Amino acid sequence: MRIDIISAVPELLTGPLDHSIVGRARKARKVDIVIHDLRQHSTDKHRKVDDYPFGGGAGLVMTPQPVFDCIESLKRERDYDAVIFPTPDAKVLDQQTVNKLSLLGNIIILCGHYKGIDQRIRDELVTVEISIGDYVLSGGELAAMVLVDSMVRLLPGVIGDAESALDDSFQDGLLSAPVYTRPANFRGFSIPEVLASGNHERVRLWREKKALESTREKRPDLYQNFINKK
Ligand code: SAM
Repeated sequence: MRIDIISAVPELLTGPLDHSIVGRARKARKVDIVIHDLRQHSTDKHRKVDDYPFGGGAGLVMTPQPVFDCIESLKRERDYDAVIFPTPDAKVLDQQTVNKLSLLGNIIILCGHYKGIDQRIRDELVTVEISIGDYVLSGGELAAMVLVDSMVRLLPGVIGDAESALDDSFQDGLLSAPVYTRPANFRGFSIPEVLASGNHERVRLWREKKALESTREKRPDLYQNFINKK
């Protein structure tokens, strides 16, 4: 998978993408992540990438020229499966969407800023719009990192058994069961006896029960969907 991220503030993207699972995946060439400074594509003498909104109102809007030039230059080099625009006025990201996106080959993520981006960019270039939640961030970089992290951890060979993604929350429509590690007794607080029983079937049933209980309590919407599908 190759991910091109376009940003007017590329400094925001260094750090989180260089460490831990994503950093290791990049080093192992399981994913190529290339960050593009949008200002380098601006033809304005001050490398401006924003302007006042037509019709008035507060805030600035990202101009089409640098974005069109940047995306067109990338598309001349290779085909892309998706041009993703993280934006709060879109469907909220979920695990099923992440699973599907992680199967794509080459993708572009365009980070918005200010009041947002000129609508013509959305109409002509963007193919997928995704919100990471019902709140507003200052820019699309954090949302881009959420997307990248959630996709990259699903790529083949990126995480091992120790970090298995398959029994994470949401993969089967439920939240995951609680987890415990050594020692079995910490300051008088013991782990559930079944987890040390060595009986795999009992452990499986316990986890299933706890996942159901946790989902019913914390996310009744997910619980209801799960029950309806059964
Ligand atoms: N005026 C826009 C609105 O009300 O929908 C918000 C613009 S926001 C200040 C600037 C940029 O941050 C957006 O263009 C988008 O790229 C990113 N952003 C903000 N909140 C987001 C969210 N919940 N999910 C994904 N991206 C978000």
